[in-house]
Amino acid sequence: SKRIVIKVGTSTIMYPNGAINLQQMEKLSFVLSDLKNQGKEIILVSSGAIGVGLARMNLTERPVTIPEQQAIASIGQTELMSLYSQFFYNYGHQVGQILLTKDVTDFPVSRQNTVNTFEQLLLKHVIPIVNENDTVSVEELDHLTRFGDNDTLSAIVLELTDADLLVMLSDIDGFYDKNPMKYKDASRFDTISEINDTILSLAQDSSTKFGTGGMITKLNAAQIVLEAQKNMILANGEDLSILFRILSGEKIGTLFS
Ligand code: ADP
Repeated sequence: SKRIVIKVGTSTIMYPNGAINLQQMEKLSFVLSDLKNQGKEIILVSSGAIGVGLARMNLTERPVTIPEQQAIASIGQTELMSLYSQFFYNYGHQVGQILLTKDVTDFPVSRQNTVNTFEQLLLKHVIPIVNENDTVSVEELDHLTRFGDNDTLSAIVLELTDADLLVMLSDIDGFYDKNPMKYKDASRFDTISEINDTILSLAQDSSTKFGTGGMITKLNAAQIVLEAQKNMILANGEDLSILFRILSGEKIGTLFS
């Protein structure tokens, strides 16, 4: 696969104590830059705007009101991109920011404009970094503008860019028959070829503070990916060199294909 979308969760780039994990951000920039040097086209979907915003504003809890959360996301998104921009620059690569909302990718004209922007960035060997535009939509029940989570967003980005593979990095090394954080005897699926009700019933919420969707949103994303006849790999982002191994064909995590 030549064109790849990589999605990282907040837990991959933030410490559990709420501070920014610079080691991980630097490592991610290094690995993706090297993959780019190998000739791969890389698109990064990164969460973390609210987490980074909270860290910057010395807050430990998410504010209660939606406007306050949006303000924190606005601060955090700027800082997040500033960090990525510097790290990628150190490894010889330029990044470009793409902020999306659901209405933008649903409406044909703005959808095509988005596709064109991705194409131009990739043509210019720039690494697009994508996030949901929280300024416009943050409310969980806002079905018109909100993707709701970056798992779904990353599957839409796969469609928009016609990429071959979505690598979803989480704090867990794959999809299990029950939540492995709670059950020691959970066993991991190597391959899933269809998302049906039985599979969906095995997915549970996140058990971490930062996690958003848990497994349910990851399976929703997998469903979009499978319907587009493309592939998704769910793997653990704790050691980011796992990306080298995945892209050299090693069987790691859970493959949705
Ligand atoms: P991220 O922040 O990386 O998007 P989440 O915390 O939202 O990740 O989701 C991953 C979590 O989902 C895991 O840490 C685990 O606690 C939970 N989970 C629930 N059900 C399952 C399952 N069947 N298999 C694997 N993980 C599961």
